[in-house]
Amino acid sequence: MYDAFFARFFYDTASTKAEQALLPFGILTWKMNQEITVELACLDLEGVLIPEIWIAFAEKTGIEELKATTRDIPDYDVLMKQRLRILDEHGYGLPAIQEVIGTLDPLPGAREFLDWLRERFQVVILSDTFYEFAMPLMKKLGYPALLCHKLEVAESGQITNYLLRQRDPKRQSVRAFQLLNYRVIAAGDSYNDTTMLGQAEAGILFHAPQNVIEEFPQYPAVHEFEDLKKEFLKASAVHSN
Ligand SMILES: [Mg+2]
Repeated sequence: MYDAFFARFFYDTASTKAEQALLPFGILTWKMNQEITVELACLDLEGVLIPEIWIAFAEKTGIEELKATTRDIPDYDVLMKQRLRILDEHGYGLPAIQEVIGTLDPLPGAREFLDWLRERFQVVILSDTFYEFAMPLMKKLGYPALLCHKLEVAESGQITNYLLRQRDPKRQSVRAFQLLNYRVIAAGDSYNDTTMLGQAEAGILFHAPQNVIEEFPQYPAVHEFEDLKKEFLKASAVHSN
């Protein structure tokens, strides 16, 4: 009887109220005391640790039309369908694309920064790229945890579609980590990071263009990895400067 009761409360994460009701009786007090908040660093990928993949790919292959971004075509679905059509027209299947991406490198200082961060925080990378594109570069970063989207690829290697993991994925991921008792410090460079920065306990802009910095003055904005390290330490409730 006691074991069943105990197991139920131990595993039921929604039992906070019941636990609090039992506190005056001294039951479960030790368990409440055991809960701790751990800090998690959430990082954007493109523009922070690696170059913008589509731009870099367009430069490597000389396909100018692939340089279009959401600034030129605001509808992401229209933009992605155009990108996939252009890849098709130039005969680029996934293996050929991965070969080109494999020749790209992380931004200078990115690997060292990431290693520094991983020594001090748990780190998760939240990106709007696709696993199939990012993997050759993730290898060069030591395969940190990455949450992003997926591509649909035919046996021939042709990319037939793209599959988003979820809507507003960066903010939803931070929310979910907070439910798991993580205190989140997030850093990113662009508009698609701002809901993540807003949801996190602390947000930092890194390598952001001037218009983003001006539109979101509530976030500190830095451009060098050394300064980003300082901002992470400043935002931390655990580490000091
Ligand atoms: Mg970015």
